[in-house]
Amino acid sequence: MTLVEIGIPAVRARRPSLDGRPDTPYLLDRFGRVARDLRVSITEKCSLRCTYCMPEEGLPEIPRHELLTPDEIVRLVALAVRELGVREVRFTGGEPLMRRDLEQIIAGCHQRVPEIPLAMTTNGVGLEHRAHALAAAGLHRVNVSLDTVDRAGFAKLTRRDRLDSTLAGIRAARAAGLAPVKVNAVLMRETLSGAPDLLRWCLDAGCELRFIEEMPLDADHEWARANMVTAAELLDVLGAHFDLTATDRGDPSAPAEKWLVDGGPAAVGIIATVTRKFCDTCDRTRLTADGMLRSCLFSDEEFDLRQPLRSGAGDDELATIWRGAMWNKWAGHGIDAEDFVPPERTMGAIGG
Ligand code: SAM
Ligand code: SF4
Repeated sequence: MTLVEIGIPAVRARRPSLDGRPDTPYLLDRFGRVARDLRVSITEKCSLRCTYCMPEEGLPEIPRHELLTPDEIVRLVALAVRELGVREVRFTGGEPLMRRDLEQIIAGCHQRVPEIPLAMTTNGVGLEHRAHALAAAGLHRVNVSLDTVDRAGFAKLTRRDRLDSTLAGIRAARAAGLAPVKVNAVLMRETLSGAPDLLRWCLDAGCELRFIEEMPLDADHEWARANMVTAAELLDVLGAHFDLTATDRGDPSAPAEKWLVDGGPAAVGIIATVTRKFCDTCDRTRLTADGMLRSCLFSDEEFDLRQPLRSGAGDDELATIWRGAMWNKWAGHGIDAEDFVPPERTMGAIGG
């Protein structure tokens, strides 16, 4: 199987150009944005097969020797924080809980950069058994993906009958103090009518729910602009059951717009990546499980950190590659453009 077949771009630029870049340690790009939020994907494996993300058979395995080790991840996270101004780190995948050494990765990062909040995006399957150990290792908070509380609907969308495990994972995360526990739900036509039930469940469980517009990053390439559920449609559905009041989103780089539910204080968020794109305030930088830097979810341009890392590059050299990768970040995705082409790497191989 070739790299292209597993959704990994075949062409990787060697060293990014630093032409015109001012002398600053931070991850600045040509449009004046500074990346402070690092997403680290640590595996392509997953316990679910969400239709908007993974193919039914799962993503083909990344050869083990290409996966970053815990020590390598810790070194790169520490470099990002100490040298490049990263202020928040989130582990994602695939499903991060599929890595048995997750606690070791978290503990290593927490030891090196104790001042930085460490977060994880997870489907919650099996979290019930690891939430306490992860909190003890230094994990601060989790976002759990849950699209519906209807068992049959969950099984259909994720192709696995694991709703109970995800719900138990959410409860365990709260009990372990991984707060706030946020719930992420991708807006899909099949689950739209269940959105009010999901919101009610989250309100009862004390979790903040955020809906996310579906992006063209599914491995099956089924996404269609004409068929996707928009934030506006969701507001109509929720508005029939709850009194929603728009609020100020506060931090301008926070992607979720928020509505108070029935006068508050509880709120529901919507991340309208497609219909209200927020690329001009994007502050993300991404590292893939096989050690490639990505400046944008939608770009096929990747810069290899693993090879120099394993050939003895010093921190200065790695930091220069990282700065260059972000300096060359483009203005934003063109999902609405007629000639839009989805990236080769799909969501499960990038991390949300
Ligand atoms: N397995 C973990 C999980 O599901 O939370 C982490 C990885 S998953 C790729 C990260 C986030 O991306 C999840 O919240 C998931 O719902 C979201 N996601 C996956 N495919 C998506 C798509 N096509 N559009 C929008 N969000 C998507
Ligand atoms: Fe797995 Fe997360 Fe993708 Fe669902 S969204 S298939 S849980 S990686």
